[in-house]
Amino acid sequence: MRFCALVFLSFVLASVGGAESAKTGAAARTLPSVSPASTSPAPLLTAQMAEGWVHTWQKRLALEDWKIEVKIVRVWELPQDAVANVHWSIPNKKATVKVLNPVDSTLKPSDVIDDTELSVVHELIHLSLAKLPLDPNHTELEEQTVNHISSALLDLSRRKQ
Ligand SMILES: [Zn+2]
Repeated sequence: MRFCALVFLSFVLASVGGAESAKTGAAARTLPSVSPASTSPAPLLTAQMAEGWVHTWQKRLALEDWKIEVKIVRVWELPQDAVANVHWSIPNKKATVKVLNPVDSTLKPSDVIDDTELSVVHELIHLSLAKLPLDPNHTELEEQTVNHISSALLDLSRRKQ
């Protein structure tokens, strides 16, 4: 049950806009902080897997005109408590998605790969919404919506397989 709680209770710690112009932005996916990382070996998350998810979901979300890079990063390269984030530039149509390296994950090793795909989908949905006039002072509403849409899409996609 911990997995569901962690996934569905994901909350925002995003900095959207702020001092940056409205044409660039960032958002992060976070999990509530939990117990220390398990001692089981970290599952193999490869750059290829992450790029494959970006490729698939970029198409599904009609973001093919974007150049999206994905990086597997250590915990100190993400905002505090975040498991993923995205930075984008609307004029350049470029974005960088960062996902947490499993060696730093607090999830059960068996959940990490599925959760990382969810992170990729989540961040790409933020990118889809980036062109809308969002309120940087109420990112929790955006976060809630992104959580619901990303979970629903992944659920549908996994049911078909
Ligand atoms: Zn988010």
